[in-house]
Amino acid sequence: MIVTDHTRRPMLFVLLALILLTAACAHAWDFRDEVYTCGQQGMTLAELQSAGVTLVSHVPYTREWMEEAGRYGIRGMPYISLYKVYESAAGGNPETPFWGEMDIAQHPEWVYIGVDGQRKRPFNNEFYPTMYWQSCTNTAGIADAYARGAAEILELGAGGVFIDNVLPAAKCYGPEFGIHEHLHPELDNIETFKIALQGVEDRVHSFGPDTVVMLNIGNPFERWAPYGDCIMLESFIYNVDVRPGPGGWVGDRRVQTKQWPQILEWIERTAAHVDGGGSVVALEYLPGDPHSAVFSYAADKLANFLWTGDSHTRRDVCRTLYRCRLQRASGPLRETEGIYWRQYPNGLAAVNPTDRAASVAVDAPEALEALADVLTDQVRPVRDGQVRLTLDAGAGGVYVTPQALAEGHLREALVAAETALERSTTDASGRKPAELLDARREIESARAAMLRAPRAVDARTPVEAALHAVDRCMTGETEADLSARLASGEALSREQVAAELDAGSAPQAAARADRPTISAKRRSSAAGLLQRLYHRHRDMVRVARRARASGRGLPAGLAYRLDLRDRG
Ligand SMILES: [Zn+2]
Repeated sequence: MIVTDHTRRPMLFVLLALILLTAACAHAWDFRDEVYTCGQQGMTLAELQSAGVTLVSHVPYTREWMEEAGRYGIRGMPYISLYKVYESAAGGNPETPFWGEMDIAQHPEWVYIGVDGQRKRPFNNEFYPTMYWQSCTNTAGIADAYARGAAEILELGAGGVFIDNVLPAAKCYGPEFGIHEHLHPELDNIETFKIALQGVEDRVHSFGPDTVVMLNIGNPFERWAPYGDCIMLESFIYNVDVRPGPGGWVGDRRVQTKQWPQILEWIERTAAHVDGGGSVVALEYLPGDPHSAVFSYAADKLANFLWTGDSHTRRDVCRTLYRCRLQRASGPLRETEGIYWRQYPNGLAAVNPTDRAASVAVDAPEALEALADVLTDQVRPVRDGQVRLTLDAGAGGVYVTPQALAEGHLREALVAAETALERSTTDASGRKPAELLDARREIESARAAMLRAPRAVDARTPVEAALHAVDRCMTGETEADLSARLASGEALSREQVAAELDAGSAPQAAARADRPTISAKRRSSAAGLLQRLYHRHRDMVRVARRARASGRGLPAGLAYRLDLRDRG
């Protein structure tokens, strides 16, 4: 369903989409009103709240976590799987919600039997944690046990469940080897898996109209897409290169596994489902660079998917992308001069799949006066309803209003200051560091000014005051000169920063010439000012971390800042 500038045939699709959308809106709650993340990703609940996150899967099976998250407006969806049963005697805990119900101590017949007559471990992986076995959903009592287990989780205050491993084997050989009988001899295990799945969904939904079931499906998409309130496509573009090993899987190298032709194929394959109101979230295992994060977000938005990123190093970039809140496309996927793009009511996503840099003018979303590039903070004016996008070869672009981007940067600054305040020690008279308290106050007043101002640039003075306050937090005894040089706009290499911070422990071997230099530029927009500070801050933290790893002393002023954004 791609509409090029030359061949427009959108009316039929629009009508079809409207009809399907009306059918899908029978319930008040819609998954696409949520911002979802797969796990906490090392972030605090305050950081998740700051990014606008409302749903988190893979959370602890405890009432305490659910209650604490509720204070931040966040609901949890613990992990379950109907592909697995549990053997508490093999290292599990029979008291664990859900899994306790699936204990094979009383039901050895629940274990799946392979073609060789043997019980099978998940993924036939000998390293998989010892308490799990593949399930046979064609046995008596197992579907009810799954539903009871899910109910236990909802009773803890969870908002729903995340169902992993929707990939049952079609045939179980239990009856052929006389090991167990099948409840529905006329059905294969795909069909009995569907019965179990429906039972869990019905039980979860009995807890309220906004309860959630997310399914992480294997192929085929069409078979499983109708189940669940949201479908996860794990590793849609970026995957972790793993192999079986101790603990189940080993390896953490992040690789791009789909190139543009395969991405486009999937966009077309899933279009009827998502444009008809269905929800799909792509989980991306991101490499450390921000460009990959933005590319994956843009490509997933061209598909009208929701996005969640797993990143050890760029949680700030992930938060910036969550804050974009491009929830539902307001038009079809379009292509102009080889660039693919799609409008959202509050922004735009684009991908340049060609092998050369491109600059194209495309229709801007209605009523927006300008768009800001979330990666570079560059502001692009809308003229005669069009906005010009400039994209490197193979790059993605994500654009929201300058106001939204700047406001997001202020939220990031605020949560950073508050996290630092929480983690910093008090002095002898019980006071927290004055510069952090100052920074928090200035950022709050800049946010208030930004909300009042019609344009981001109108809030420039309070935003600059906030930046100076953040700046003071980052200036220690040995850094004053460095800070002044950066603030003046001088570009410094990583090596120069390392040398400035602590000449004795500058990690020369680890510093790479191809890393971007740190520069102060783009003073023209409020967002740019903030972004400049944050890029600089991040690089300082990395340098300081290396200094710490080298076993030498740290510049005094960096001690509490290390905890600000560089947590394990
Ligand atoms: Zn069986």
